[in-house]
Amino acid sequence: MSNRAPTTTAEACVSEPTSTPTFEALPGRPSDLGGLPIRRLLPRSQRRLVGPWCFLDSFGPLTSSSVKAMDVAPHPHIGLQTVSWLLDGEVLHNDSLGLQGLAVPGVLNLMTAGRGIAHSEETPPRNEGRLRGVQLWVALPKASRETAPSFEQHRDLPVVELDGGRATVLMGQLGGARSPARVFSPIVGAEVAGEPGGRLALPLLPEFEHALVLLAGDGQIDGRALSVDTLYYLGCGRRELLLVSDQKPVRALLLGGAPFGETVLMWWNFVVRATDEIVAAREDWEAGRRFGAVSAYAGPRLAAPPFVARPVPRP
Ligand code: MN
Repeated sequence: MSNRAPTTTAEACVSEPTSTPTFEALPGRPSDLGGLPIRRLLPRSQRRLVGPWCFLDSFGPLTSSSVKAMDVAPHPHIGLQTVSWLLDGEVLHNDSLGLQGLAVPGVLNLMTAGRGIAHSEETPPRNEGRLRGVQLWVALPKASRETAPSFEQHRDLPVVELDGGRATVLMGQLGGARSPARVFSPIVGAEVAGEPGGRLALPLLPEFEHALVLLAGDGQIDGRALSVDTLYYLGCGRRELLLVSDQKPVRALLLGGAPFGETVLMWWNFVVRATDEIVAAREDWEAGRRFGAVSAYAGPRLAAPPFVARPVPRP
């Protein structure tokens, strides 16, 4: 995804973990991409980082569409990884390394931008006419952020059988199972599925901060009912999370990681440490340098939005 209509200045994203268990509800901010409903869950003004997770858009469900549901033209990224995970439909990735990957349910698309990559994401010509999924970004720690760009796909992610359901481990580890996806700091990302009327017990690391997003069905945490596409920030210090469902099967996204400990700047599709890095990356994109071309995409690339290089207020 490309961050639509970013602010003209960078946003400072401070790691502000809550050291004990908490329960903060942050409803997603709705927008629309050519008829595709999108909710922005991270960053929000109240919370910008959960571990290294710094961006989360939930999109769909689109249940019947004859149009191209997603069509994000080539755009650049630096300093982050993009994680694409679908519950329904398909999204085709093409990048400036010449790599292509079709994301479908059960197949994880992971792009490490490092010092710079460009990609496009679109509904392929042959498609189900439905779409439901999430895209997340992971901030790279300072020591790894200039790493070489790469793209990988994972089809055989570990599934942990739990009391009351199961968890597919997308990134990092959960309950002793480790995803093969490349990570750069202690992290967990998992899709969890619980039976109707069940109590799903998720094993957590107390030193991680966590958040949970209900994607479908109904559920409760700490005796509180959850709404779909709201980010529930849960803080650090939990060894277990009990997700209780009532009438319907529950599907949710668990995010977490060691508190990131670094303040990053975000603007458009860049995660950096200083404003001049944004200026340089933006100029390189506009001049056709650094990022390369996404030759597999038919059509023009995205132009960089305006950016004003003024000092960023630190919250
Ligand atoms: Mn993107």
